[in-house]
Amino acid sequence: MAATPPLPTIPRSKRFSLPPVMKGTACEGCGALPAADLLAEILGPKMVVVCPASCAATFSLSYTSASWKVPFVHWIFESAPAAATGLRHAYDARGMRDVHVVCFAGDSGTLDIGFQALSGAASRNENILYICYDNEVAMNTQGQATSSSPAMARTPTTPRGVSTLKKDAPRIIAAHGAPYVATAAVSHLEDYRMKLRRSAKVRGFRYLHVRKSLQALEAASQAVEVSER
Ligand code: SF4
Repeated sequence: MAATPPLPTIPRSKRFSLPPVMKGTACEGCGALPAADLLAEILGPKMVVVCPASCAATFSLSYTSASWKVPFVHWIFESAPAAATGLRHAYDARGMRDVHVVCFAGDSGTLDIGFQALSGAASRNENILYICYDNEVAMNTQGQATSSSPAMARTPTTPRGVSTLKKDAPRIIAAHGAPYVATAAVSHLEDYRMKLRRSAKVRGFRYLHVRKSLQALEAASQAVEVSER
């Protein structure tokens, strides 16, 4: 089997970095870190990040420290897009239309527990950017399968392997009529950077599905070659 390529190192955005006290809140080599770092680099200081329960919530905030240098909202699992919708309308009402409102969520918060609010925001074409960093399992709660887990994946809740196909999130969101849907992967950071830039120029609901599991880098490469809508 071919060796997994190392993740590229990237310059720190200065708007996202783990403070020393929070080292160890993310696994060594976690792909969500460069995904967050590039997001902060590209969208800049006029951004608010809404994050439901997830690994990202864990490495973003502790009682005394925060990894983001932009406003950050730690929200409940079920309704991050609803919170983002409220923020969007509040900023708009104050004439602050240039503030980017971004949801940064894992696959469980996106496709299982949070799906209703996601679908609602996409249907209403809310002017927010939703980023799902997909590690294909609910690692923050001990590795249970999610509907983004690939078929036959063995997890604590599927000891004989997942019996269904991976939920096709980008196509589902595209079917809502969202003006921008794309897939990306942390193995291809230039591509991810370019898609962040494009998504920032679009008004309306934008969805970016970022593959990050190290085991799935080959599949991630294919995801990069496929797709923007
Ligand atoms: S389980 Fe995955 S997403 Fe969570 S901190 Fe570890 S590498 Fe990152």
